[in-house]
Amino acid sequence: MKKLVLASGNAGKLREFGQLLAPFDFEVLPQSAFDVPEAEEPHITFVENAIAKARHAARLTGLPALADDSGLCVSALGGAPGVFSARYGGEPKSDAKNNARLLADLAGVADHRAHYVAVLVLMRHADDPQPVITEGEWHGEIIDTPRGAGGFGYDPYFLVPGTGLTAAELPHEEKNRCSHRGKALALLIERLRLGM
Ligand code: IMP
Repeated sequence: MKKLVLASGNAGKLREFGQLLAPFDFEVLPQSAFDVPEAEEPHITFVENAIAKARHAARLTGLPALADDSGLCVSALGGAPGVFSARYGGEPKSDAKNNARLLADLAGVADHRAHYVAVLVLMRHADDPQPVITEGEWHGEIIDTPRGAGGFGYDPYFLVPGTGLTAAELPHEEKNRCSHRGKALALLIERLRLGM
């Protein structure tokens, strides 16, 4: 099997990517197995940050690397919190503080449309001039009162159109199927099928 390093320390992502990429003969390993420290994410776009993370992991391990970057973009806020989604409410970061800031920013605003974005970058080596890049979006609306115990982050406030449910109320498999990450991953797998 070809080794592929995942530029993340998230155990859930490792398991999910590992299962989905095994048919393509990839063994997905966490960057922590190679003592790779977390990369800087200094950019204001998802794709730039995902490239920076993948290149950092590929450079330090000498292996192909996969990175993802994701967040929530609210239309009326010019795309904020965007790449700052994880720490929108300040440090130390917490979902509760992020959600409180989001609701405060939207107070008195009529347009509550929002979408999640996920970008995946697969780099064959650190100097790869043509990394495989895919992107998924999941559109919805921010509501004022949280509902549901599943998911994470902004999910209790993210109403999924046509379902009457928030992302935190959707069954796990259903979220994986229609989410931004699920879509980006399906596109990545499609690209791998066509040959990397
Ligand atoms: P990361 O790309 O996994 O670091 O996610 C960045 C941040 O975006 C998270 O900390 C969440 O605040 C937000 N986010 C990304 N994807 C989701 C999701 O599926 N549900 C809820 N929040 C998300």
